[in-house]
Amino acid sequence: MSRFFDTKIEFLKGVGPQKAALLNQELGIFTYGDLVQHYPFRYEDRSKFFKIRDLHQDLENVQIIAKVMRVELVGTGKRRLVAHVADETGEMEMTWFKGIQWIQKKLPPGAVYIFFGKPAQFGRKWSIAHPEMEPLSQSAEKRNSFQPVYSTTEKLRARFLDSRGISKIMEQLIQVCLPHIQETLPQDLLQQYQLIGKQDAVREIHFPTDPARLQRARKRLKFEEFFFLQLRLLKMKVTRTEKYRGQLLENTELLKDFYENHIPFELTGAQKRVIREAYQDMKSGKQMNRLIQGDVGSGKTMVAFICMLIAISSGAQACLMAPTEILANQHFEGLKEYADMMGISIALLTGSVKKSARKGIHEGLESGELKILIGTHALLEDVVQFQNLGLAIVDEQHRFGVAQRAKLWAKNENFYPHVLVMTATPIPRTLAMTLYGDLDVSVIDELPAGRKPIQTVHRYDKDRLKVFGFINQEVQKGRQVYIVYPLIEESEKLNLKNLMDGYESIARAFPNYLLSIVHGGMKADAKDYEMQRFVKGETKIMVATTVIEVGVNVPNASVMVIENAERFGLSQLHQLRGRVGRGAEQSYCILMSKYELSKDSRVRLETMVRTNDGFEIADVDLKLRGPGDLMGTQQSGITDLLIADLSKDAPILTLARDAAQQVLANDPNLSQPENAPILRQVRQQKKSAVNWSRIS
Ligand code: ADP
Ligand code: MG
Repeated sequence: MSRFFDTKIEFLKGVGPQKAALLNQELGIFTYGDLVQHYPFRYEDRSKFFKIRDLHQDLENVQIIAKVMRVELVGTGKRRLVAHVADETGEMEMTWFKGIQWIQKKLPPGAVYIFFGKPAQFGRKWSIAHPEMEPLSQSAEKRNSFQPVYSTTEKLRARFLDSRGISKIMEQLIQVCLPHIQETLPQDLLQQYQLIGKQDAVREIHFPTDPARLQRARKRLKFEEFFFLQLRLLKMKVTRTEKYRGQLLENTELLKDFYENHIPFELTGAQKRVIREAYQDMKSGKQMNRLIQGDVGSGKTMVAFICMLIAISSGAQACLMAPTEILANQHFEGLKEYADMMGISIALLTGSVKKSARKGIHEGLESGELKILIGTHALLEDVVQFQNLGLAIVDEQHRFGVAQRAKLWAKNENFYPHVLVMTATPIPRTLAMTLYGDLDVSVIDELPAGRKPIQTVHRYDKDRLKVFGFINQEVQKGRQVYIVYPLIEESEKLNLKNLMDGYESIARAFPNYLLSIVHGGMKADAKDYEMQRFVKGETKIMVATTVIEVGVNVPNASVMVIENAERFGLSQLHQLRGRVGRGAEQSYCILMSKYELSKDSRVRLETMVRTNDGFEIADVDLKLRGPGDLMGTQQSGITDLLIADLSKDAPILTLARDAAQQVLANDPNLSQPENAPILRQVRQQKKSAVNWSRIS
């Protein structure tokens, strides 16, 4: 868009300084450009009218034609304006709490209006608060069945900038600005993907003429938004692979030795594939930046270890960073077993490692004698210097911030280390393409053979005795049980109380079993002590808050009970469930909830009962919550899309990504004349504030 779009909106006819100030404050709209991109978020069928008699509870917004009978101010202090209105089927009320003086003038008895809003019933009377209104006489022109609905605020509404008011100024804007709108996509792309021109699309999105054309307008604008996003991400990836050389890690001697002599199980096909993909990167001469997605239990740790072996036999060192001390410990113990078999030195570095021990670790790293370092973010500290760090692995990626990961990069002066990021939070493909658009993604989409799928059931609180009976049976068989309580964000105290109450009732129900308890308020070593007792099988039941959510591996634990399951998000439930089903025994997940559930809670619990597939669950989650809530998306800012929706527009996203790839492949610098519109738009966007710094 050109300079013209930097014009301040106060200069638009019908706006002026006061309304402009409000639009600035309330919606962040400052310029013509901002306003023209304030797309409607929905369209309403305004060809339908309701009779007052036909109103009922389940209606969203409705239109009613009614005559003003009388108007009164009700209440003392904070008063409200009530207009009693009627049509031939009955009477109802329209009420205002703000902007009363303004409105009152517009409501002489006998005036007939089209009122629009969501009806609510008080006693037997229907009423609409702050309806939109329009004199019937003015709307004699044919009613459009697709009225745009713009987001607005109470304050704006009080100044007649409701959706309709915004539409009015939009009309002005479109008149003056349409000729200035430049095409941003080349002709051949428009043709190939059957997209309409930008001007048409913008007009149609604000003033739709018919459903089919509106659809095409939306598709065009969504495509454009995704296209430029993908272009930017792909460009970042190209820059990275061109700029950052990688250390050659291609020796597989240790890997072969391990594979032939020590590996305790056959790798799954998916593990093998992912190892191959990483190996290709590590010997490519370019820096690897790869995300490994694998559902809980899919065996990411073994993949990590084998990649480490490649690094080590090629003369480099490797490190693995985990988000919590418990996890780091567990990785250390697991990997130490393998490392010892191979005669490879390995050490653990966490906040609780003693100073004296640290010194030895630091020295070992600098001399290159120490080959593998496992740890928490303690290993990011500046004193931790490697002789030659070749591979840095980050487990459970979403717990780490961008800046922390960037620090890893700085651990090798000659080459950036190859980076593997492992996450058990499955991200739907569409989101991965965007969120990690500049990374390469590998997926471990297969669980080790012989795992029995976890059986999941949903039980109400009243069934608790039966559930306890079941727990008892399982413990009798020699198994262990997790019982997890939710974290209630508002109240640390309430959390603890909940947990302690639960703990006591469990202690009472199972007087003969030893219990462990772990929660966020405990010191790290106390937590660890309790965890270890459970890991060793000394305690039979682990009562905990969600601190055990990530990564902990106790194969003998076969029952996961989640209390107040309705309070957990889907991905969290799935993570928790992943703590069981790691051994050969049949495992169970029991979701406890109260009886009354919101619609979303019900969908979440039903989804958990229906499927064990992390990707399916992630898809449902994305639909329920929208992408903005997913881990990590906020910080990257890439979900601030104007019109496209990552959860719903996957097909368009795929097309746009293909298109961006095609364009960059043919013309990496966008220097060919036909791509001039793209280049212009890219430059335009660069000027705007978004910071597209590295995501990983
Ligand atoms: P996650 O991907 O959740 O990190 P882990 O790496 O902790 O999973 O692996 C879960 C369990 O499965 C571990 O006990 C591990 O030893 C075991 N495991 C991993 N790969 C295989 C395999 N190919 N066959 C059998 N067991 C495996
Ligand atoms: Mg893991």
